[in-house]
Amino acid sequence: MADIAANLAAAKVQVRRAVFRRTSDPAEQKRMLAALKADRWAGDPFLARQMRQHWKRGRNRTHDQIVVRADQHNTVVDGRGRLWLAVPGLQRRRMVRIPLSTTVAPTGTLRLILRGGRVEVHYQIDASQMRSSQRPCGDRTVGVDKGYTEVLTDSEGGRHGCRLGVLLASESDRLKERNRRRARLRSIANSAAGRGDHAKAHRITVNNLGTVKRDRQAARHRARVRTEIFTAVHRVVDKAASVVAEDLTKRFAGRKMLGKNVNRRLAAWTRGVTAEALANVSERRGSALVHVNAAYTSQACHRCGRLGRRNGDRLHCTPCGVVWQADVNAAINILQRAGDPDIALHTPHHKVKQILQDRTDRHRTRLPVQDSSPATAERRANNPNRSAMSNKQEAASCT
Ligand SMILES: [Zn+2]
Repeated sequence: MADIAANLAAAKVQVRRAVFRRTSDPAEQKRMLAALKADRWAGDPFLARQMRQHWKRGRNRTHDQIVVRADQHNTVVDGRGRLWLAVPGLQRRRMVRIPLSTTVAPTGTLRLILRGGRVEVHYQIDASQMRSSQRPCGDRTVGVDKGYTEVLTDSEGGRHGCRLGVLLASESDRLKERNRRRARLRSIANSAAGRGDHAKAHRITVNNLGTVKRDRQAARHRARVRTEIFTAVHRVVDKAASVVAEDLTKRFAGRKMLGKNVNRRLAAWTRGVTAEALANVSERRGSALVHVNAAYTSQACHRCGRLGRRNGDRLHCTPCGVVWQADVNAAINILQRAGDPDIALHTPHHKVKQILQDRTDRHRTRLPVQDSSPATAERRANNPNRSAMSNKQEAASCT
């Protein structure tokens, strides 16, 4: 609003000059300037023309969609049970009929988007009416870590959405191969155009470098990944009343990191979808989503807090003498961050490291004194058996 007001004021300066250029009659000048000042310029043809010329407005670059008001469309079911949507066309009283691929009639204000020779009908629905919204959430508090081969790993050792890795890898390979081929065709077209063979260049552009099929396949892939991610989040919410997670909308990597690399772009995108799914599903099913600071959660041993050695999906903690499943360990760390008195959501990275170090240092200086005392034996008894814990995590299967 402030921008619009500023642009309006700037336009009036220009128009005022135009008024003085147009007439030297003081009465006429006064009339026009008064109309301009009182925002009555639309009534005067000269002022209106000048304002249209000088008032900078936003430019709409949307060219493939229209919005249809709720009272201007209707749906009919034909004899074969197919649903048709009728919307106003360019001719008066002639509705344009669109066959729909669903049996649920869209309601309310519609947005029609023309994409790849198809019409997409977008409309709002009440999330509380959705079937998944009726499903209650679980009753536990669960920490989750975002993985690469699976969507989420929870602090109880459960893996969710295990097909994500395969989906992303195959898509990234396919894209790389396709982009390579398209680049080759484009260079053939460019060299043909350089030779003056514009017919050939045109043929290649039209027949081999189209975007309809490519866009449709991309949309289908996106839909598959979204389903995988949302299903995984539903599995977590099935057992959790409270989901503790890293804030995935926060960006660590700068724009530079994304670049041309297909893998990174896909990873960044799935990160965003996972964040959306966590917020959306939690909201719909009534579980709480708690964001925590995830700094060093993938590197620190959840039992002793020291930074371990990462080797693939394993995390070696030398002081504990244990090998953890890296992402289960991270999920447990994330869960523990929810109740951490020192590490808040926005505590800087280096401070988190300092806090973790201080804690283990304190632990180390206390150890020799307590090592032979009964307290240590008691603590050992309270801790879950190391090898049993590892075995449990090995057996963790994907849901
Ligand atoms: Zn440890």
